[in-house]
Amino acid sequence: MLEHRERRIHKLRISVTDHCQFRCVYCMPKTPHFSSPAHFISFDEITAIVQRLQVHGIDTVRLTGGEPLMRAQVPELVRKLKAIGIASVGLSTNGHLLTPALAAEFKAAGLDAWNISLDTLDPEVCQKMNKVKVLDKVLEAIDIAVASGIPVKTNTVVMRGFNEQELPAILDYAHIRGVEPRFLELLRIGPMVKDHARYFVSADEMRSTLAQSQGELRALPYEAGSTARYYLTSTARRFGIIASETQAFCATCTRMRLTATGKLLGCLFVSEGEMLMPHLDDEKRMAAAWERTLAQKPWERIAHSPQEMYAVGG
Ligand code: SAM
Ligand code: SF4
Repeated sequence: MLEHRERRIHKLRISVTDHCQFRCVYCMPKTPHFSSPAHFISFDEITAIVQRLQVHGIDTVRLTGGEPLMRAQVPELVRKLKAIGIASVGLSTNGHLLTPALAAEFKAAGLDAWNISLDTLDPEVCQKMNKVKVLDKVLEAIDIAVASGIPVKTNTVVMRGFNEQELPAILDYAHIRGVEPRFLELLRIGPMVKDHARYFVSADEMRSTLAQSQGELRALPYEAGSTARYYLTSTARRFGIIASETQAFCATCTRMRLTATGKLLGCLFVSEGEMLMPHLDDEKRMAAAWERTLAQKPWERIAHSPQEMYAVGG
């Protein structure tokens, strides 16, 4: 049955660096290998690639990493992407380096959405899970992002033995600030390929933990192409669960990925891709590279990824 196989690919996740100052246990291996910044493509090159991909339907971009704020002048990239007509430009960050001045630059550049990782409200858990002692900075970043007036979502990777009891507290924390919380099933990628079963918490278990404190949960209709499924608590507080393992969304996935060195990938779980810079000056070759990458995009979930999340861009 091929006729129901239609995906409108229109989103591009762009990694601007694979470097990161955090060492989240679910993302970073013991010895990460970071690329030389000399190999990163420039913001002008990223913009030129995106411009080429607009004819193939790309209209939504999320900047990520590694930690995108470790690269200088990312607001300038946002400005360039908005200038070529990208409808929505979002940023995924761990928040550590966000200051009010930087947030103002993002606002002026036209940023449309913040995604801030918030795994815990407990400094000790942060130290164990993210291997940093900067929870205060992450919490401050959420307030700075909220103050910018740009919509904010938080991302919480849920791991047994670390933060699985904190979901109700994180939901409260987010809603008090007008932020939408999202809880992520642990992916089998990088350091989690080996230890996945030990740490995995399913979306079902997350819902039952939340229902205990929030009353009956109501599922909202699934928006095709969305990574998250959304729910309302009994007091109409909305939250998302990204159930990449138990409710994989490959068949409706709408995104492609571009690494910091300019490689186009169809999926986090596939390592084959196309270096795009050599095709930049030739529309036909660029189109062929796009089509080849598209053909590698799986329709069903591959068991585990041969890649590293920080290297591809989460
Ligand atoms: N450094 C930024 C951050 O942490 O938000 C952006 C890059 S990070 C790779 C993007 C997202 O990937 C984060 O929300 C992070 O929690 C998520 N992530 C990384 N490894 C994961 C894993 N094994 N399972 C689920 N989510 C993961
Ligand atoms: Fe860094 Fe984000 Fe990976 Fe954590 S999840 S190690 S903050 S890239």
